[in-house]
This record gives sequence, structure tokens and C-alpha cells, in this order.
Amino acid sequence: TAPAPERVAVTETHCPYCALQCGMGLRVGAAGGHAEGVAATGSGEAGPDVEVVERPAFPVNRGALCGKGRTAAAVLRTGVRLSAPLVRSDGVLREAGWDEALDRVADGFRAVQEAYGRDAAGVFGGGGLTNEKAYLLGKFARVVLGTSNIDYNGRFCMSSAAAAHRKAFGLDRGLPFPLEDIPKTGCAIVVGSNLADTMPPALRYLTELTDNGGSLVVIDPRRTRTAEQATLHLQPVPGTDLALALGMLHLAIAEGYVDEAFVAARTSGFEAARAAAMAHWPERVERITGVPVPDMRRAVEMFAGAPTGMVLTARGPEQQSKGTDTVGAWINLCLATGKAGRPYSGYGCLTGQGNGQGGREHGQKADQLPGYRSITDAADRAHVAAVWGVDPGSLPGPGRSAYELLDVLGSEVRSLLVMGSNPVVSAPRAAHVTERLESLDFLVVSDVVLSETAELADVVLPSAQWAEETGTTTNLEGRVILRQAALAPPPGVRTDLFALHHLAARLGVGTGFPTDPERVFEELRAATAGAQADYAGITYDRIRREDGVFWPCPDESHPGTPRLFLERFATPDGRARFVDVAHRPAAEEPDAEYPLYLTTGRVLAQYQSGAQTRRVAELNRAAPGPFVELHPHLADRLGVSEGDLLAVTSRRGRAEAPARVTASIRSDTVFMPFHWAGAGRANSLTNPALDPTSRMPEFKVCAVRVERAEAS
Ligand code: SF4
Repeated sequence: TAPAPERVAVTETHCPYCALQCGMGLRVGAAGGHAEGVAATGSGEAGPDVEVVERPAFPVNRGALCGKGRTAAAVLRTGVRLSAPLVRSDGVLREAGWDEALDRVADGFRAVQEAYGRDAAGVFGGGGLTNEKAYLLGKFARVVLGTSNIDYNGRFCMSSAAAAHRKAFGLDRGLPFPLEDIPKTGCAIVVGSNLADTMPPALRYLTELTDNGGSLVVIDPRRTRTAEQATLHLQPVPGTDLALALGMLHLAIAEGYVDEAFVAARTSGFEAARAAAMAHWPERVERITGVPVPDMRRAVEMFAGAPTGMVLTARGPEQQSKGTDTVGAWINLCLATGKAGRPYSGYGCLTGQGNGQGGREHGQKADQLPGYRSITDAADRAHVAAVWGVDPGSLPGPGRSAYELLDVLGSEVRSLLVMGSNPVVSAPRAAHVTERLESLDFLVVSDVVLSETAELADVVLPSAQWAEETGTTTNLEGRVILRQAALAPPPGVRTDLFALHHLAARLGVGTGFPTDPERVFEELRAATAGAQADYAGITYDRIRREDGVFWPCPDESHPGTPRLFLERFATPDGRARFVDVAHRPAAEEPDAEYPLYLTTGRVLAQYQSGAQTRRVAELNRAAPGPFVELHPHLADRLGVSEGDLLAVTSRRGRAEAPARVTASIRSDTVFMPFHWAGAGRANSLTNPALDPTSRMPEFKVCAVRVERAEAS
């Protein structure tokens, strides 16, 4: 074997995957990466000479990485990634040069817009894009294409929590406190998050909490590895978290846990919320949720009886057609018991995607401009237009939300740019979405690999990966961090900023689209100055020095804001607002034809649509394919054994996967992970019923029928 090459440099950066944005180092060998190196990637697979190493100084993960982060360099291998642009000729994708590919994209958009109007062009972004890319993509849609139709896959991630945050507190930041506060609280209620699998290094914050004598309540229809750590696990029927929160508020009120002084001094709207909760008798809530009243009471005693407490939600309660109200009900519980706006207390959302936080702040959402500025507010439009050097009147208004945009592909929207997203696998009612994508006049996909969505494209642009380009992300705490390039991209690969710059030029906008990420960030600072998500005081140099800065940070002498709402909430009167909500069933409940609940989620070794992680051998060995988790009682009823191939059918489609029999799930519910395409695609089944406020689809609950595949 060849001697190990000399290791010459370690670049401090962050993981490309989830919202924890773990700190890591990248050690690039003497060969310098792609140009000459073909050695280890940390996974034992051939690729550029890059190794992921621990970076213990970064406080969020203190050097710990999960398997996804440890093997992230494996996706840099030339064998699994795109290495040149692809254009479709005679029905097949063939390699092309960048000029040809960019010309095709510009021609494709121009032809569609000339024939059908500006809004016939659409843009679909991603929650994994850096702040710079998200910002420039939003600007590209509004200034170059002049379309209102831009949204992104973060709509499918945490939009319900974001909407509830804004309603209650006047401001949306995933966590209003740093993760380091969690072990110091008295009780944490974690609703619908399996962070032991989705962001393993974060589990220590919960175990430190219980080690410190605090209590942990986990609410999940499955007894996950996170639930196994809990002081108390509540296992409700999928889609009933709203009723459970109302029942617990009822008990808190009835048993004298309301912090009347806090409610009077710092909130508004309690009387309506109190009346709504009192209509949800514990016995009624037990009938709806399946959670026994004594367990609810114990959870209330732990939470409301503790001097401090936190509620943390994730996709479980959020990905519902009533997700915004559900999160609002949990916030009500925090407010009524005085557990918000105080140290070591509050409500937070455990955002999922790598830049799920920053990705929603900087203008790739249908209804927002950078900094959370509103696309309908005249002053906000004027500020951003001035930074962009355009007439405010030229900026389009609000567009369609993510699913609504995908649903009109081929009719109202005829050409689409997808950047950093794989909706063929990750969108609800995925077979329908795939048909819509196929019906487009023109589809261009920018990605690092040939994803299932890229396979449908007319042009595929190979983009640089996290290790090959510098840019900022904002983690789930609101901490703005810097991913630093450690090596150059391969010869045929360019950054997304390069693609946007050259497309803008071809479409007649020759300035305002820099390829240098730091220049884009400087413009982003100006665009967000004075806004809620204010980045004006954050610079690349400062992030390097301080290893992250919390927004809002209005000027360079400002220390940043790790903790929000301690003095006042971000509403006009400074008070947090209760919401008046009542239980309602899921959009689709089980019936005689489809008698079971389906809920979906993630597994430890795969990430989101799996486009990257399914290409890593070590991760595939750990999680090689989809499965259907079902309870032994249900398996007996169906005559099914471990490993039998099952067919799961909903009103929208069918998926097949082997049975995994486990007592950790409710007997009225089956679970499927959603990382895979093909016959085992869980999102073939899911329901696109939308939350009326956030426009979040109901991924987390629908009705299905399960049978042995050969019998169906
Ligand atoms: Fe990466 Fe998330 Fe794993 Fe950390 S927990 S290494 S950020 S995937």
C-alpha cells in the first residue's frame, strides 16, 4: 500500500447536514484535494485526500459528530457526484460545457416567460443552501426573472413553528436561547423529536438535564431512542398533539399552576385561551389522544411544578394541517405557567435542515424579503429595493407556497429552477409531484449529485459542495457560523453563486450577482440592517474570531443576542400573545378502507431525501433501505412476520418495504422513513393537506392500509 500522504492543513468548518451545524475540521492532504489526490475520505472509499477531524473547541458539539458528519467527505468522490453540466439531447442527458448549459437555461426561461408571462417561471430553493445562496436566489427570482413564484423545501420543515413563533412572540428564531441552557432548566418537554437519531450530539443536552436532576418528558407515537431517555414518555395517537397540549393546560389551570403575575405583566389574550383549554376535559383528551389522564397529570406536575421549563417541538407536531395551532397550544402552556421570557425557560423549535434557520430568513420564501422583511410592506420593499438598486414597484408580490407551486407545474408555472432540493423524494404526494415536474416545458436542477429530481431535468448544473466553497449558515440557535472552503471544486464543477451570476448576465442583469460569497454577505448585511433578523453587525472576520455570532446583531460593537425576550417580546406592545385554539382531527383519519395511521420520519444513518447519504457506503450498510415499522399485535392481526414485504396503500399511492416488528410503536400506527425513492418511497403515501397559516403539508399523519405485498 502507498504510504499515507503528508497532512498539511486543517480548515475549521461545519457539517453539511443538519441544523446543529456541528463544528468539524477538514484536513486536506499534500495533494491538495481533487486535482491530484485520490486517497482516503474518512470513509475508506476512494476520493480526494480529505479527512474529517474533530473540532472540540466549537461549543455546540464539542468535537462529537454523528456518522453522517464523520463520513461527509465521501460525497466529494468523483464517482458519486456530478462532475460536468448535463443537457438533455434526444431525450437523454449528456455532458456539456458550462457555456452551453447556461445558454440553454437562459433560453429556456426566456422562451417560457415570453410565451406565458413572468410568473410562468418558478424557483424552488432549499433549507440546506448557505445564507449567501438563499439571499442571491431570492434576488435572482425577483430581480432577474421578476417572478413571484419562489419558495423552498423549508416550507416542509419548520414553517408551522415559524408561524406560531411570529403569532405568539412577534419574532421567529428556532431557539430563543442557546442549547447550553437546556441542562439548566427544571423540565423539558420534547414533542415529536427523535434527536437521538436526527442530531445525536444534541442528546447530551437532555441527558445532562436529567443528570442535573431535571425531568424530561418526551411525546412521540413511537418509543424512540430519545423517548428511552425520558423521565416520562407519552405516546399519543398521531395528529393529536394539539389536544394533548390543551388537556395539559386544562390540568395546569385546574391545579393552580397558572403564574398569574407573569400572565398579567407580560402576556395578552389569556382569557380566551383559558376558556378553550377548559373545554378540553382531561377525560375527553384521553379519548382523543390515548394518553392516560394520570400520565398527563404527572407531566403537568413535572413541567408546571418546576421553577423553570422548556417546550421543544420538531416535525411531529409541526408537519400537520393544524401545525401552527398545535405549536401555539404548546406555547400557551409555557406562557400560562410563566415559562417564557425568563432565563432557562421558553419555547423552541428544533429546526431540521442544515440552514433551516438562515434559509428562511433571507428571501427564498414566497412571502418574505431578506431579514424577514415582508414582501407586502411598503417600507420593507423600499429598503430592499434600495439595496438592490431597483424600483420598489418592480418587485413582485407574494407567490405560491412550496406544495402549491409544485402542484401548478406544467400549467401556471412552465419552467422551474431547483437549487439544493429533491422534491421527487421529499414532497408529499410524491408521484403527483413527479408527474408535475415531468410536465414542465423546462426544468433546471443545480445539485451536487444526480438526484431523482435532477434525473428529470433538461439541464443539470453540478454545484460545488460545502468543503469547496465558503459561506455562512445559521444554526438552530440563531448562531451565524462560517463554513470555510478547504479545497477547490473539481474542474467541471462551479458554485451556485457562479451559476446565478452568469444566468443573470445572460438574462440581461449584468451587475449585482457577485460570485464572491463575502461580497454577497456584505450586501445581505445591508439588506437586513434594521430588520428582525438583523445581520448588520456580523462579518466573516468576526465569525472567525468568535466562532459564531447570534442575531440580531445591529452593529459591529453589538455582542449578538443569544437569549431573546428576557425584557420584552417582539410584539408591538412587548407582550406575548396567547392563541385561541381548539382540537380538530387530522385531515384524513383512518376508516374501514384505510384503517391505520401512517407517520413518517428519519433514521440515524440517512439524511432527508438521502441524495447525499445514500451515496455513502458506510451509511448504506447501517441503513440500506426503507422499512415499515409495526407493532407485534398488528403484525399478528395481519399475519405478518419480521422481514415480510408489505404493501402500504393510501388514497394517493402505494409503497412497498419489509416489515420491522417492534413494540415501540402504537398498534394503530405504522412508521416509514422517507429517505428513499422507488417502490419504498414513503412520500408516495403522504397527504398534501395544508396548514391554513403556514401552508405546511400534513406529512406526519394520514390513513393507510397495510397488507403483505404478494397478497395485494
Ligand atoms: Fe452533522 Fe447533524 Fe450529525 Fe452534527 S448531528 S454531525 S450537524 S448530521
